Amino acid sequence: MKMKGELVTCEMCDAKKTSLDDALFDEQAEVYFCDKGCFEDWADDYFHDIVEQYKELHVYAG
Ligand SMILES: [Zn+2]
Repeated sequence: MKMKGELVTCEMCDAKKTSLDDALFDEQAEVYFCDKGCFEDWADDYFHDIVEQYKELHVYAG
């Protein structure tokens, strides 16, 4: 994670934000988003990866 006040770039729309503003940090992918909408757009693009990851972490064969 970057230092407080440092500029970060939204992974989805390339907007510049300071991390202590309203930027969201995805600690799994280690990327920033300017808002929830950008995260959701990004999650759509990475849907398959996210499902795979979720399965690994949370889904067990009975
Ligand atoms: Zn954005």
